[in-house]
Amino acid sequence: MKIIAYGIRDDERPYLDQWSQAQGIEVKAVSALLDEETAALAKGYDGAVVYQQKPYTAAVLDQLAANGVTNLSLRNVGVDNVDAEAVKRNGFKVTNVPAYSPAAIAEFTVTELLRLLRRTPTFDRKQAQGDLRWAPDIADELNSMTVGIVATGRIGRAALKIYQGFGAKVIAYDVFHNPELEKQGIYVDTLDELYAQADVISLHAPATKDNNKMLNADAFAKMKDGVWILNPARGALIDTDALIAALDSGKVAGAALDVYENEVGIFNTDFGSFDNIPDERLKNLMKRDNVLVSPHIAFYTRTAVKNMVQYALNNNRQLIETGKADNEVTF
Ligand code: NAD
Repeated sequence: MKIIAYGIRDDERPYLDQWSQAQGIEVKAVSALLDEETAALAKGYDGAVVYQQKPYTAAVLDQLAANGVTNLSLRNVGVDNVDAEAVKRNGFKVTNVPAYSPAAIAEFTVTELLRLLRRTPTFDRKQAQGDLRWAPDIADELNSMTVGIVATGRIGRAALKIYQGFGAKVIAYDVFHNPELEKQGIYVDTLDELYAQADVISLHAPATKDNNKMLNADAFAKMKDGVWILNPARGALIDTDALIAALDSGKVAGAALDVYENEVGIFNTDFGSFDNIPDERLKNLMKRDNVLVSPHIAFYTRTAVKNMVQYALNNNRQLIETGKADNEVTF
């Protein structure tokens, strides 16, 4: 058995080598992403492991199939960039990694909230200028707040435990109610109820057709004055212009954004200087002490990267050996 792994970064390499040695299976690692040209590299392999934001178009998948590879294992969750028709037409088997470390995202989310509440960015900036005064940057305490969690999936539940560990009151909204959490009585029936009660809103929902720009001007108007917004989920959940207006008016006290609606091609890129970042609204947000923008790094831990690589390789091996896998995605 031989597997080819596309788009392998330096930080993934040790986990790939470790798996290959432990399993005694040859894995060819290439740094190039999978596209119409690089698909030819897969000739002679039994499966391909991939991760990229670039689309897996019909042309790319046709090429891969023409080179004899139809076992495709993604190292991430989302499969929205995979051409479903080409998958079916070529008889591809596709797997994803549905969860690689919910704790990584949950821990990062709460870390960012605490930085906001304790005014850490402001104190860092003041101290760098030799200003060691306290006022006017008085902080707030999480233990006396109500946190509203939108979506109690794997990440939402991991965040919930941490918030409760800090002594915060937690309420939650989800289209599906987790039976264990239901017993705790934490669910509200509508988003409006959550908006009305929450001091902090922690978003953990996937982006769907129904929740595009769910945090818009209407939603902000229904929230408490001085609410804190956390989005480590998907940029599409927030109307950026409405958020900027709500920050300007003080309706929103601050925000931590690990995702952004136009992040593709911007995040995980070195522009050489702040001025060169080609997005004015993003720079507007980044300039504020009460907004923490991070380039989609909540997941980026050693544990998560190891799991993404090794779970995907396990999935690919399963596909090759049995024609089926636990994490097979149906198109
Ligand atoms: P999950 O599948 O375990 O849970 C998703 C939850 O969302 C489910 O409980 C579902 O019922 C709920 N849901 C779906 N649509 C909803 C809606 N319209 N309103 C309210 N709830 C809704 O997913 P997860 O592993 O917890 O991941 C959650 C999201 O986190 C992902 O979809 C992704 O967008 C994001 N994410 C971000 C990073 C990062 O690095 N920042 C990494 C991984 C995932």
